Amino acid sequence: MRTDTLTPEKDPMGAAIADFHRRGKAQPLRVFSSRFDEDEMPVKELFRTFDTMPPLEQTALRMAQGRILDVGAGSGCHSLALQAMGKDVCAIDISPLSVEVMRERGVRDVRLANLFGNEPLGTFDTILMLMNGSGIIGRIEEMPAFFDRMKQLLRPGGCILMDSSDLSYLFEDEDGGMLIDLAGDYYGQVDFLMQYRQVKGEPFDWLYIDFDTLSLYASQCGFRAECVREGEHYNYLARLSADA
Ligand code: SAH
Repeated sequence: MRTDTLTPEKDPMGAAIADFHRRGKAQPLRVFSSRFDEDEMPVKELFRTFDTMPPLEQTALRMAQGRILDVGAGSGCHSLALQAMGKDVCAIDISPLSVEVMRERGVRDVRLANLFGNEPLGTFDTILMLMNGSGIIGRIEEMPAFFDRMKQLLRPGGCILMDSSDLSYLFEDEDGGMLIDLAGDYYGQVDFLMQYRQVKGEPFDWLYIDFDTLSLYASQCGFRAECVREGEHYNYLARLSADA
């Protein structure tokens, strides 16, 4: 898994966020994967407000308490909503362009940092990972390293609020049977590459994880997983806390 930050030449999402912030509009962000057809992400969605967020995200923001870390904060939409609620939040992102936009939009504590890097970030009561936030973990074999990192960052009694999706619906045949290669990689592991105008990023791994698999890894790593709420499209919000 990568532990560094991005450069602006290889940061299509940051370029899209900066464009939308400056001009109030942006071209679509193009998303490629060996697993799916080419797709587009409307950049406006990265600028959602509390009222336009899905209920799953609203629930996570309401639950977040104490000192909060917003991981992969993007345009800062969650951090700004938390600040408006009077909560104490630190936003981190590996995109220098996004970090600059967050500063300009008024996110008070924002840092250019990789969750898995060496920068000292302090400790937190709530670690927020939203918009298929498990994606940042990248690959299923990184789960133990992820939980080790969480142990360093979480205060006693703290928790991680993370949303993810179970991609198994993509592999169902007409009779409801599963077309999953059990000997292959975990089915929620996806490679992506993004492009915004001329700016092309490097390929990266993004992990979608079903709740049962997440619970299993959590329990092996000294954490307890609880499904807080299910979303409308095979997605859910999980609360992960360290065993007492
Ligand atoms: N949370 C935001 C943005 C989601 S996109 C929202 O819901 O709108 C994912 C973001 O995570 C991107 O901005 C990307 O730059 C950032 N990111 C990816 N890997 C990261 C890592 N290891 N550490 C910190 N941020 C990361």
